[in-house]
Amino acid sequence: MAVTQTCLQIFHMLPYIPIWRVYRGWWGGGGSCLKPAVLVTNHSDITSFYLLTDTITPHIITPAVQYRGDTKFNVAQLLRESVGAMRNYQIQPEVEIRQGERVTFKGQLELIRTDKGILARANLKSSIPETCSRCLASFSYPLSVEFQEEFYPTIEVNLGLKLPPPEDSSSFTIDENHILDFGEAVRQYSEMALSLKPLCQSECAGLCPQCGKNLNEGSCKCDTSTIDPRWLALRDLQITN
Ligand SMILES: [Zn+2]
Ligand SMILES: [Zn+2]
Repeated sequence: MAVTQTCLQIFHMLPYIPIWRVYRGWWGGGGSCLKPAVLVTNHSDITSFYLLTDTITPHIITPAVQYRGDTKFNVAQLLRESVGAMRNYQIQPEVEIRQGERVTFKGQLELIRTDKGILARANLKSSIPETCSRCLASFSYPLSVEFQEEFYPTIEVNLGLKLPPPEDSSSFTIDENHILDFGEAVRQYSEMALSLKPLCQSECAGLCPQCGKNLNEGSCKCDTSTIDPRWLALRDLQITN
């Protein structure tokens, strides 16, 4: 059987990306683990992996992606690695973005060791129920959150010594147990992405100020030539001239 393209990519990646780990073992369906297998993963905790079912002529590949649901990651191991070391995660975190409104996002998170801490790069998508500020109709607002934020450790990972706080007090930190929690970053970026005056569509026609009909659904029979009372004085002025 031919080696698949995905399979080849992994074999080519191995020599260049030292953080990829290779496990040898056995696998099988229905409770029997009889076939030799090689597991290739780029995570220490195996949240996603590729399974190669034959060590000599790999021909079956099963990418198994599991979404992680929380916003907290233990980065102790990553902090011990050299600058540039990286972890990739498929995540599906639930974050409270507005008071009492919990939203499930789906996307990717990349954690990269920097000289000072860990750079978190996230790309998340969700859709939230909104009310149009013009026509008051309910609609689903596509919320997209993308950020790159550096998180600074508060404790030196090898010696356990307290580190001075980052210069910018609004910076994100990694707690004393080496937990990086990106939930607050998602909340802040969601806030920026959400419009104060959400519109169901950019050309929303709104409601008729007289009968209240949603004008996106068609026009009404109201007389729209009625002059705003604030302009009446001006009209009289024009007549007398
Ligand atoms: Zn609208
Ligand atoms: Zn009307």
